[in-house]
Amino acid sequence: METEFANLIKLQKLDIEIRNTSVLLDDIPHQINEIDKKSEESLQIVQTAKDNFSQNQKKRRNLESELQDIKEKTEKYKRQLNEVKTNKEYSSLLKEIDDTNAKIDSLEEEIIGEMLSADDIEKEIKAASKKAEEVQVELSRKKEVIFQEKNKAEKKLNDLEAEREELIPKIPSDQMKLYKQISKTKNGIVLSPVTEEFCTMCHMRVRPQMVNELIAGTQITTCENCGRILYYVKKSD
Ligand SMILES: [Zn+2]
Repeated sequence: METEFANLIKLQKLDIEIRNTSVLLDDIPHQINEIDKKSEESLQIVQTAKDNFSQNQKKRRNLESELQDIKEKTEKYKRQLNEVKTNKEYSSLLKEIDDTNAKIDSLEEEIIGEMLSADDIEKEIKAASKKAEEVQVELSRKKEVIFQEKNKAEKKLNDLEAEREELIPKIPSDQMKLYKQISKTKNGIVLSPVTEEFCTMCHMRVRPQMVNELIAGTQITTCENCGRILYYVKKSD
């Protein structure tokens, strides 16, 4: 047997579903944002590796130019060896040549070091690009799923709202007034099912006499503890 306020129960179920669907929809921009952030991060890793490569190349060019200068300087010293007049000048030049040769060795070593890191960086760029591509595919797939969910939720919300519109005129105005009143103070949870003699929402025991009234379902009864409208639901086994 339907109670006098069966439509009110329907309204409560609709309102809860409307709220849940709205919460779901409200979260979608955040989800899209998170995906865009991840996508941006994977591209940023590639960019950082590319920047490292540019820096490596620039450093190598500088070292090579420095090496060229020192080599020219060494050649100049060597030519001067033939022109010096004193032993002192001669040994001083040899010392200069030793120094520049040492510098040439260390520069050449540094250049080799930069070349080796260039190889590593190129591998990094390749790996990061591959990873980024995979991430992009995965993320756009996820985005697609989210958009589908969004469309579905929007459609569902429209249907629920339409159903609500249709239902409202069928509810007596005094019931509607009470519903709105309780809704304000109980955060939208106006009705509470009673099974096993307990108010589901506040877990307060309902007096046996009241349970009988609820089973009859002829009038609106509110919970003595939480003030919500009670309705009886037979315990499912
Ligand atoms: Zn209660």
